[in-house]
Amino acid sequence: MIAENLQIIKEKIDKKCGFCGRGGDEITLIAVSKTQPVSAINDVFNAGIVNFGENKPQELKSKSEIITAPLKWHMIGHLQTNKVKYIIDCAEYIHSVDSIKLAEEINLRAAKAGKIQKILLEVNTSGEDSKFGLKDKNDILSIANFCENSGSLNLCGLMTMAPFTDNEEVIRDCFGKAKNLFDWLKGEGFGITELSMGMTNDFEIAIEEGATMLRIGTAIFGERNYLI
Ligand SMILES: *Cc1c(COP(=O)(O)O)cnc(C)c1O
Repeated sequence: MIAENLQIIKEKIDKKCGFCGRGGDEITLIAVSKTQPVSAINDVFNAGIVNFGENKPQELKSKSEIITAPLKWHMIGHLQTNKVKYIIDCAEYIHSVDSIKLAEEINLRAAKAGKIQKILLEVNTSGEDSKFGLKDKNDILSIANFCENSGSLNLCGLMTMAPFTDNEEVIRDCFGKAKNLFDWLKGEGFGITELSMGMTNDFEIAIEEGATMLRIGTAIFGERNYLI
């Protein structure tokens, strides 16, 4: 089932990229494995996916310790400063940096671990208070400047989430805002390349609006069972 799901998604990605004049190789597909068992993650890995996303630090850490395959882990959920320690050794990317305080803590921990940590800044493009993320360009700029001089952070781009709605225009507006912020920050001289946006219900719109990283869970693994 998982191999078929992946095949369908890959075809949709390629088709949408072709439609937009983009190359399929511009897109990194991240399989969001939160709540999913290790066996399912191994199935997805064996079907050719190497990038996996988790939204809880301890879950990411414990899965990274159990799974021996060379996966790349992405921390995609909200991250509290006191939980950076769980993921600093195992996260390839942290997508959810939304404060200078968090950036400072990641920088300290990465320096101690002897690594350069790749991060994205989470931006709130929906205006919803329930969502995390930076809203103010000045805040984005000051964290970007901090990263530049930090020593152990590599700022790779931006991440955003659209609201849960079937109103396509609302979703497109959020992704368009993230792309505008991305282009603006690049224009400020930061060498960013990644725009992480698009999930099961909206990834095709995200591709149209310039996403380079898609975070897809349900369409790959099936519905999540939160009782596990
Ligand atoms: C769960 C989650 C996803 C994937 O959601 P699906 O709708 O299952 O594809 C993507 N991004 C974040 C931050 C998530 O928490």
